[in-house]
Amino acid sequence: MCIFCKIINKEIPSKPILEDDNFLAFHDINPTRKVHALVIPKAHYSSFEDTPSEIMNSMSEFIKKVTKELKVDKTGYRMITNIGNDGGQEVPHLHFHIIGGEKVGRLVRDKEDA
Ligand code: 5GP
Ligand code: ZN
Repeated sequence: MCIFCKIINKEIPSKPILEDDNFLAFHDINPTRKVHALVIPKAHYSSFEDTPSEIMNSMSEFIKKVTKELKVDKTGYRMITNIGNDGGQEVPHLHFHIIGGEKVGRLVRDKEDA
């Protein structure tokens, strides 16, 4: 079972933000900004590529509730989902990063990309 499935099953503790029957939002263990949340479906899909459109539809509604809860809905935020090897995905369970609470800055090319 993947790490995020274990978080859903409460085998691994997390700091939850919001939960419903199908989705869970919790704080990233290693935050990169003042706000760094992760939003996941309770069903296991390995990435955006494997996720049915109906799930994405309802997930987008859930994410908007999360951004209101985090109070970044008006100030703005960056939403990222990493996909596969080139995308730098480490946990193979669909998740959206919500980062903000401060200016996130421009996307820049990492030295290690070059
Ligand atoms: P990825 O690189 O797959 O897009 O991002 C995985 C994210 O999951 C990382 O930002 C990492 O800090 C976070 N993460 C990994 N393991 C755990 C955990 O056990 N608990 C929490 N809350 N976050 C985790
Ligand atoms: Zn999983």
